[in-house]
Amino acid sequence: MKKIAIFPGSFDPYTNGHHDIVMRGLEIFDEIIISIGYNSSKATRYFDIDLMVEKIESVYKDIPNVKVVVYNELTSNLAKSHDANFLIRGLRNTTDFEYENTISQMNRYLNEKLETVFLITSPQYAAVSSTVIREVHKYGGNVSEFLPYEV
Ligand code: ADP
Repeated sequence: MKKIAIFPGSFDPYTNGHHDIVMRGLEIFDEIIISIGYNSSKATRYFDIDLMVEKIESVYKDIPNVKVVVYNELTSNLAKSHDANFLIRGLRNTTDFEYENTISQMNRYLNEKLETVFLITSPQYAAVSSTVIREVHKYGGNVSEFLPYEV
């Protein structure tokens, strides 16, 4: 059976840390669906969602088993509709762990077929965060080093 994983997040913006998780995930899964959701606590995006889809798609233009979708529903239902039995999340620190632990328990309750797989950040990306990148960008700082070329 094909191993399909969703990789949900805000990706506002999509960073080298996210890209690293996807490239490492491809060693484990046959297909990865990068799924851009509207996070209720970050309802207003900084970067336009359609533009971000376009940019992420261009990062993976030569890798057909990476897809990009936008969703506005339960992540557990999104997984079902794509026949995905795996959900990838990245972990940078204990703060990420506390948050992810709760979410993954709830996702399993909502969809018992959905297994969350955590990939620990690569050390060079441990401090890369979309939140910090948005702040620096807002005040005119150069953040290109933290983002894939296409983004
Ligand atoms: P969310 O708003 O759902 O937390 P993000 O776009 O911030 O979405 O992150 C998506 C996923 O990528 C999360 O699991 C997050 O922990 C992970 N992630 C973010 N930055 C990094 C990084 N530098 N290294 C590894 N994982 C990361």
